[in-house]
Amino acid sequence: MKKTVQIAIDGPASAGKSTVAKILAKKNGFIYCDTGAMYRAITLAALENNVDMDSEEALTSLLKRLTIDFSQEEDGQHVFLNEKDVTNEIRTNDVTNSVSKVSAYKSIREEMVHRQQVIAESSSIVMDGRDIGTVVLPKADLKIFLVASVIERAERRYKENIAKGIETDFDVLKQEIADRDHYDSNRKNSPLVQAEDAILVDTTGLNIEEVVESIEKHMKTLF
Ligand code: C5P
Repeated sequence: MKKTVQIAIDGPASAGKSTVAKILAKKNGFIYCDTGAMYRAITLAALENNVDMDSEEALTSLLKRLTIDFSQEEDGQHVFLNEKDVTNEIRTNDVTNSVSKVSAYKSIREEMVHRQQVIAESSSIVMDGRDIGTVVLPKADLKIFLVASVIERAERRYKENIAKGIETDFDVLKQEIADRDHYDSNRKNSPLVQAEDAILVDTTGLNIEEVVESIEKHMKTLF
């Protein structure tokens, strides 16, 4: 096996990327990096500090003052913003509905990509996001593009929300997912797009174990 292995998992919102990436990282002793959490963290900081989301300059200057770290705890990965645990706060609707705007700015992406590449230098990694196979880790050993129908993704997220006690309107949720896909896929700077050498995995109708199994088959070529 190579000294370190990089696995890139990209795809639209709620396709199951992070669930699958976490399982693969744990099983193989790799680190896991949730790049969406990093864009969510700056969005949270912008909301909390009333930073103008129309100003790329203001957001870029904010990002310079932010540290974003991950730590593996017993109950899963936690996200820290300037050393404060924001694992739950970055998942609120306010953050979810503003993050695509923040992540579309070129200078924000450049800084995040740099930070993500530094994280990936240290050890074997599974990284998930929108531009991992195309921009962050273009030489990744395995690139997966995970998709599922909008209805199925909305149904999964709806069930998760209900289980967490978050009141949710299914049609609104479905529309929000479709809007975020549209925004992420049509932005000028590194839009969500399948890398030429990525393997398309359609998870519609599959459970998590089946998705993991299908990716593990492709991983065998690495070992
Ligand atoms: O993965 P998650 O849904 O948490 O990502 C939140 C948002 O962060 C995405 O909708 C997208 O706008 C942005 N993102 C991105 N590039 C990444 C990861 C996430 O633009 N690599």
